[in-house]
Amino acid sequence: MTSTPSGSFEACDLCGATDFKPVAQQGGFWIYRCRNCDLIQVRPLPAETKEVNQDYWHVDLDNPSTRVSRWGSRCVYLHGLRRMEKWTGAAIRGKRLLDVGCGMGLFLEIAQEEGAVPHGLDLTPEAVEMTRRLCKIDTVTQGYFETCDVPPNSFDVVTGWGVLHHTRSPSQWLAQAYNLLVPGGTLLVKMPNVAFTAAVSKLSPVLRRLHLPTSHYLASRPPLNLYGFTCRTLTGLLEKASFEVLAVESAHIRGNAGFLGGLTTAATVLATALTLGKINFSPVILGIARKSKK
Ligand SMILES: [Zn+2]
Repeated sequence: MTSTPSGSFEACDLCGATDFKPVAQQGGFWIYRCRNCDLIQVRPLPAETKEVNQDYWHVDLDNPSTRVSRWGSRCVYLHGLRRMEKWTGAAIRGKRLLDVGCGMGLFLEIAQEEGAVPHGLDLTPEAVEMTRRLCKIDTVTQGYFETCDVPPNSFDVVTGWGVLHHTRSPSQWLAQAYNLLVPGGTLLVKMPNVAFTAAVSKLSPVLRRLHLPTSHYLASRPPLNLYGFTCRTLTGLLEKASFEVLAVESAHIRGNAGFLGGLTTAATVLATALTLGKINFSPVILGIARKSKK
C-alpha cells in the first residue's frame, strides 16, 4: 500500500465522524472504516464523471449471457417482494412504486405483473430507453434521484436494487426516499454485504490457489462502488433517515449462480452460525423499512 492521503476529506456518511482506519486500497482509491460507527467508505470521494455511470451500460442484448443474467435476477426480485409482503403484511397490487436505478427494467416488469403501478428512474439514457423498449413501460425518467423533481409523498413503495453502495451519500439517498414515500410507505434496498466481500478479498491468495472466484473489498472496485454495508451499518443508516426498520436480512443469490453459488450460501450460513448470528456473512443483504404513518 502507498501512504494514505493527507489533509481533510468528507466526514463519515453515517455518523459524521472523521476518524478513519484504512482497510484497503484499490484502483488508486483508499477504503476506510469509520472508527466510530464501522461504516466502510471510500475517502476522499472521487470526482464525479459521466464515465463512471457509463460503466453500468456495456450491455449487449444479443449476447445469451445477458438473457441468462436477466433470468438469474428474477428469483432475487421475487424473493425480495415476498419478504416485503411478509414484513408489511400487504401485497404491492395497486401500489404506486418507484424503482430507482431501474436498469434494464426487469424489476419494473415483475412489479407490473404483480399489479403495482410501476415508475422507474435511472441515471443513464440507455437504461431508460431499454426499459421502455424491452418492458413496454413508459413511466421511466432519466435523472439523479437525490435532486429529482418529484413532489413529496408520491409513492407507496420505493425500491433500490444494488444502488445504495454506488451513491455518493447513502444518507442523502435515503432521506430522499423518505421524502417521496407516503406516510406508512415502504422502502426496500438490496446491496452486497461487505462482511462477505471483505472476508473473501482477504482470502484471495488461498482461493486463487484453489481456482475459486475472489472478490474486491467492496464487491466492485471504486469508483464504481463507494460504500460497503453490513446489517448493522445499514440498520444505522435507515434509522438515521427516520425509517422504522422492519428487517435487515440475507437476500437471495442469483438463480444462475449454480453449484458454486449453493456452496457459497452454505459456507456463509455456517460462518454466520459460528458467530452465533452476531455477524451475517450472506453475500447480499436486504433492508425493508417503513415511513412513519403520521
Ligand atoms: Zn461513522
